Amino acid sequence: MSIPYDFTSEQWGMLRPKADGVLLPYQVDKVIIHWGGSGYASTTTAESIKRLQSWDAYHLYTKGWSNGIAYNAAIDNPGSIFRLRGLNRAGANRGDYEPDGKPENEEGFAVVWIGGAKSQPSEAAFDAMTAIINSLGNPPVIGHQEIYYHGTGGSRTACPGGDWMQYIADEEWLNAPPPPPPPDADWPQPEAWAAPSWEKAKALGAINEFTVPGDGMEKDEFFVFLDRLGILDMMAELN
Ligand SMILES: [Zn+2]
Repeated sequence: MSIPYDFTSEQWGMLRPKADGVLLPYQVDKVIIHWGGSGYASTTTAESIKRLQSWDAYHLYTKGWSNGIAYNAAIDNPGSIFRLRGLNRAGANRGDYEPDGKPENEEGFAVVWIGGAKSQPSEAAFDAMTAIINSLGNPPVIGHQEIYYHGTGGSRTACPGGDWMQYIADEEWLNAPPPPPPPDADWPQPEAWAAPSWEKAKALGAINEFTVPGDGMEKDEFFVFLDRLGILDMMAELN
């Protein structure tokens, strides 16, 4: 599963966006929740983007961190998920929680909630956090303040605040709605002549058990289909 971002780093205007690490895979062994500061939570997407841009510029130009905004992802009260550094080293997680000799900025996936002590996280923000944690396979989750209380470095902080610490204590990400049940016996199935191709397409993930064989094909789907078979390029050559 991949992280269900609503906004890529480019879409919100990160100054130095980078692709996920490939040469040095970033081994996520936990999620670390942060808040963005002591102020109010953003209430609109536009406001969230403005704040991300200002934190990015601050981390890049004032702090001198060459990759800019020092978290892996952000969420906000409207419920959006923003890619920041993505699956790359984060740098905002000083200290070594276990301790296993690896600093948390090499193994903690840092998610920052665009809010602070003067606001509460919304249900949509909790759901966005849950979606990220679920997509990473439900690793352990800690709050930034726990790195200090574990006595292994970092600085004393109230981050990410009492509501998120309660979310962590309740392990709320394990209460995500279950996947839909498989279709019942009445679900339409392909005709016998189409069944072998249908099974192949299912094995490839192109369709699933909820796809209806009799559903129509749109014209855009049809031309993408022809294009991916190479037929449009072939016709262009013939012309
Ligand atoms: Zn923090």
